[in-house]
Amino acid sequence: MSEDSARQHPGRPSRRRVLSLSAAVSASAATAGVLSPSPSYAADMPLLGEYDVVVAGAGAAGMTAALTAARRGLSCVVVDKAPTYGGSAARSGAGVWIPNNSVILAAGVPDTPQKAATYLAAVVGDEVPADRQRAFLDHGPAMLSFVMANTPLRFRWMEGYSDYYPELPGGLPGGRSVEPDQLDGNLLGAELARLNPPYLPVPNGMVVFSADYKWLALSAVNTRGFAVAAECLRRGAEAALHGRKPLTMGQALAGGLRAGLLNARVPVWLNTPLTALDIHGGRVTGVVVERDGSPGLVRARRGVVIGSGGFEHNAAMREQYQEAPTGTQWTVGAKENTGDGIRAGERAGAALALMDDAWWGPAIPLPGQPYFCLAERTLPGSLIISAAGSRFVNEAAPYSDVVHIMYERDTADSPHIPAWLITDQNYRNRYLFKDVLPALPFADEWYASGAVHKAWTLDGLAQAIGVPAAALRATVDRFNGFARSGEDADFRRGQSAYDHYYTDPAVTPNSCLAPLWLPPFYAFAIVPGDLGTKGGLLTDARARVLRPDGSVIPGLYAAGNASAAVMGRSYAGAGSTLGPAMTFGYVAANDIADQAG
Ligand SMILES: Cc1cc2nc3c(=O)[nH]c(=O)nc-3n(C[C@H](O)[C@H](O)[C@H](O)COP(=O)(O)OP(=O)(O)OC[C@H]3O[C@@H](n4cnc5c(N)ncnc54)[C@H](O)[C@@H]3O)c2cc1C
Repeated sequence: MSEDSARQHPGRPSRRRVLSLSAAVSASAATAGVLSPSPSYAADMPLLGEYDVVVAGAGAAGMTAALTAARRGLSCVVVDKAPTYGGSAARSGAGVWIPNNSVILAAGVPDTPQKAATYLAAVVGDEVPADRQRAFLDHGPAMLSFVMANTPLRFRWMEGYSDYYPELPGGLPGGRSVEPDQLDGNLLGAELARLNPPYLPVPNGMVVFSADYKWLALSAVNTRGFAVAAECLRRGAEAALHGRKPLTMGQALAGGLRAGLLNARVPVWLNTPLTALDIHGGRVTGVVVERDGSPGLVRARRGVVIGSGGFEHNAAMREQYQEAPTGTQWTVGAKENTGDGIRAGERAGAALALMDDAWWGPAIPLPGQPYFCLAERTLPGSLIISAAGSRFVNEAAPYSDVVHIMYERDTADSPHIPAWLITDQNYRNRYLFKDVLPALPFADEWYASGAVHKAWTLDGLAQAIGVPAAALRATVDRFNGFARSGEDADFRRGQSAYDHYYTDPAVTPNSCLAPLWLPPFYAFAIVPGDLGTKGGLLTDARARVLRPDGSVIPGLYAAGNASAAVMGRSYAGAGSTLGPAMTFGYVAANDIADQAG
């Protein structure tokens, strides 16, 4: 797919996106037709409990489902495999993309249901049925209001965080994403210790929102950046003064949902993985779990909701469904997300979809854990090249698209994995890089790992990373010309409002483009990272799990990354995974409650 077509048709499947519904369906068809029987031993297992609703997974989808079920008057339990709750949601930046929610409307965002429907349809295309898209848009705002009414969570508009395709009809350059406001961890009591830690901790003494990072990256060169850094410190000091334990981003989201469950008296059993579904007379009637090392049965009178996340940490499933090169080493998702719920649903006869896709993003394989890089990739004075030394993408394009294009272009003759992010000392002097302040040196281990290289000449850098020196020189020369003219004639970087989100307003004539000229020069390996996988159990507009023939598996629901994403192969805006995960958790539990009368 060309750069242009990726921008114009973000939802269009490419040549390589081969494992779409039909293939996945045939894979599971062998088990379809009749539900596979419950494990014959299930009847002999100790009964650990009986509830109206059993939810597998205490992440974004699962906790929202459980809260909804409880507030609709149903008894409910959540089982989670991990010793902590929160899953990837707790690790996340917690941007939540919900068009027409009450927070953005109150802030004056000019959204309407019509605009949102037009935009989502343009982004997602026909990969996902219109009624599912509509269900997300119809129930999302109510879900967010419900969460605010039943938890201590409050949300704030991420002002200016553009939709990812703002030029498509209905797209909003000012954005539709919200994130949690600051939450006091004291509200959680002893449960605070069981909150899954963040992917990247907030710097000590600061209270930082996701929307602040754009400015923190610029704090050395931009007065607003400096002011935002000072404000983050002020919030930190204020919280300390009042004895608060401030949580933001994913920590606030997961902590706030857990606080809602505490108030609603919903038990959350940690260290309790779902291993199978219990099925009687064609209906899912409970789950088999491991508890204290032994199997046990938890009965569900009205329904089971699978919210056990994706399969990002299952090497065999990645190998089976995803394009090479793949593995578990580049994902930043929660490590317990190994596709257990997807497999259990598949054994019950469910269809799978989108299994080859993920919530991709370019990552640097730093020692310890991969670094999912956002601002660093798009700030001016950086470009991305293939092994041939040529640019191949608008570096500031939505992160999912950049990785789709990496896979699209990667061949034995023309490797694009890893690609290389190239910068110079001028860039390094101006911007934060991960948590390394401008101008400060990177850790020796970064260089020792081979993920980062530095050289005093472009030729030296090319040699270090095995790229033809003449090609790299020519690429940088051409790019520097674009920076001077303000026109990226090759990839149109800076043409979309989205490109300008992580950028430097002081750079002219195009704030996305600056020349690379000051040695030393740096190269960072870029690999296909992800926030989690997006393929899973096929569901309908009511979050009910479907068989390959389109019929419903009675009693079985799925939401979040255990289900095939309503976003299809695309990514509408910041929060396109959490918004739908929470919404379909809410939809599932409401549907169960509606059936219960
Ligand atoms: C660093 C990072 C930043 C991110 N930023 C954003 C963002 O800003 N906006 C956004 O929309 N998305 C973001 N994401 C992605 C988002 O966090 C996930 O897509 C989302 O959390 C998925 O929700 P979920 O409920 O399906 O899964 P999770 O939140 O991962 O929850 C799944 C839960 O299921 C549990 N589980 C797994 N197996 C079993 C089993 N066998 N039995 C019982 N429980 C099980 C896990 O332990 C986990 O607690 C980010 C992710 C990461 C890692």
